Amino acid sequence: MKIHLLTADIYNKIAAGEVVDRPYSVVKELVENAIDAGATEITVEIEAGGKSLIRVTDNGCGIEKEDLQNAYAPHATSKLSRAEDLFGVKTLGFRGEALASIAAVSEMEIVSKTASGEAYALTCCGGVLGQLTPAAGANGTRVLVKNLFFNTPARLKFLKSDSHEEGDVAAMIARFILSRPEIAFCFEVNGKIRYRSYGDGLRAALAAVYGAEVLSHLCEIDAAKHGLRLSGFIGDRNYSKPNRTYQSMFVNGRYVVNQTLASAISNAYASYLMKRQYPFYVLFLDVPPEIVDVNVHPNKADVRFADHNLIYGNVYSIVSAVLDGNSRALEYVVPEAGQERPAPAPATSSSPVPQPTMSYAEAKKELGFDIPLYAGTSTVPRRMPPAPIFEVRSPKPQQEDAFEENQKFLRAQEEAKKQQRIDPAALTFKGELFRTYLIYECGDDAYIVDQHAAHERLIYDRLRAKWEAREVVSQPMLAPYVAELNAQEHAFLAKNYDILREIGFEIEDFGGTSAKISAVPSDLMGMDLAAFLREVLASMESLRAIKLSDLLKDKLASAACKAAVKGGERLTEAEARSLLEKMDGDMGLKCPHGRPVAVHLTRYELEKLFRRIV
Ligand code: ADP
Ligand code: MG
Repeated sequence: MKIHLLTADIYNKIAAGEVVDRPYSVVKELVENAIDAGATEITVEIEAGGKSLIRVTDNGCGIEKEDLQNAYAPHATSKLSRAEDLFGVKTLGFRGEALASIAAVSEMEIVSKTASGEAYALTCCGGVLGQLTPAAGANGTRVLVKNLFFNTPARLKFLKSDSHEEGDVAAMIARFILSRPEIAFCFEVNGKIRYRSYGDGLRAALAAVYGAEVLSHLCEIDAAKHGLRLSGFIGDRNYSKPNRTYQSMFVNGRYVVNQTLASAISNAYASYLMKRQYPFYVLFLDVPPEIVDVNVHPNKADVRFADHNLIYGNVYSIVSAVLDGNSRALEYVVPEAGQERPAPAPATSSSPVPQPTMSYAEAKKELGFDIPLYAGTSTVPRRMPPAPIFEVRSPKPQQEDAFEENQKFLRAQEEAKKQQRIDPAALTFKGELFRTYLIYECGDDAYIVDQHAAHERLIYDRLRAKWEAREVVSQPMLAPYVAELNAQEHAFLAKNYDILREIGFEIEDFGGTSAKISAVPSDLMGMDLAAFLREVLASMESLRAIKLSDLLKDKLASAACKAAVKGGERLTEAEARSLLEKMDGDMGLKCPHGRPVAVHLTRYELEKLFRRIV
């Protein structure tokens, strides 16, 4: 057999399979190039789901006439020149293979102009370069990709329907808009604008992608903890989505899908959301590059963390502090414009507020984890500072209107929210239904409250507040419980003795590897200790210490559930009134399992039901 050196043409067709397999991956590469070029405005147009046409136009630095040919050449990049540059990659691209790969499997044209030069165009059809010709164009670059995979029929067959491909491109653009709120994006599908952002911040970017309405359900957070920084927006505790597609996480500026992060967040929401309800979030996690390994395969979005406990623990505790609204949350929540940031709660001696300046090593020591660093690469592209502006474009005409619209909407939402909280004195108790639902009237509104759910929420909040304030009462047991453990289990439990003691367990070593429990939190009196310990130890395998707090939260919820009045128990009028007062008139509450506590019915809705109004 004879060994052939592949011609560049064939090689690129093969490589194209790796970098570009679908229209959205072409769009991703082209938009990343535009971002790397420092563009502040990027327009993406597609037709037929990107199969027949993709056009990306930017106002970035442009490509010199002499370099246009090179841009199409494989392994041609302006972003790396020395091997050692690889360790400080700050751009999204650096392999220099995207343009060559795309050009090999499509009919491509690049028109580009630098600030000091003239505009030139160069085509490349199925990997065959055309002639360099003068062209007309503004500063920046316009890349046109027509008939993707026209010369690789096998690959063409793998494409999904136009609308499916279009959806994937749209999702990709949405992520760009969110991750680069300083860039103005315009996304057009078959000539119609689908998304448009103006580069004026994350709030506006969120409104551009999800509609301004979403903002009224979100909390903005910005937390620094143990050398990590978590910022962005999360849905409030009453806001949920029917699937996971409303979740975006960017680690050091890169979109990732990561199990550790996803479960930290969903566990923080666990007591607020029901099954098949998913939290909304757009979060940026910035971590020291040495503790994250970005899988640099162009199409993979996962990352690996050197110490996933550290990541899980911090993300979990920040998100749950904000949701639970405990004192530490004040440090993390960004006030709305015009509002003062609340003064941070004074640190008590029992819970020193961690300083953001703490080093990674110190943080590990404090958390008591000791896991060897994962020996991975550390070529982590960081989020870039805003790029230099090469050209000032005309002002954005539509922005004013959109802004005004958003403001109006937000004011209306704010009003609606206020109305969710009702002065208990303004409500008249009107009786109950099925011994479960309490009916209250207030003007033209009626509220139906699930007595069990409401009571459960109140007990849960009270228990949590007590635990948080370390005001727990231990209840000694008649006969101490002795847990026989193996060495690993014992080591794990012993590490968590302090946490357990803080919440009211009396636990100590009992010779060898056993432990003795002689008191339990009085709120959890009568709990099944053996089952509880089994659950605690089961969590050892997966996420260790941090899971423990989840578990305890779960216990709390079920204790609350047991203690709450059941449906079917008749409350006196005084009891019904006092329940409402304790709810503080908050009709937006949910029970710890995520079910709504109150349902709102208006006179209008009733009259519609009776066809008095049509
Ligand atoms: P990479 O991005 O990995 O360098 P590409 O094949 O995507 O490789 O691009 C090759 C080169 O072409 C880039 O290094 C850059 O110099 C140039 N280039 C591509 N797109 C643009 C653009 N939109 N604006 C300016 N230069 C670009
Ligand atoms: Mg690139």
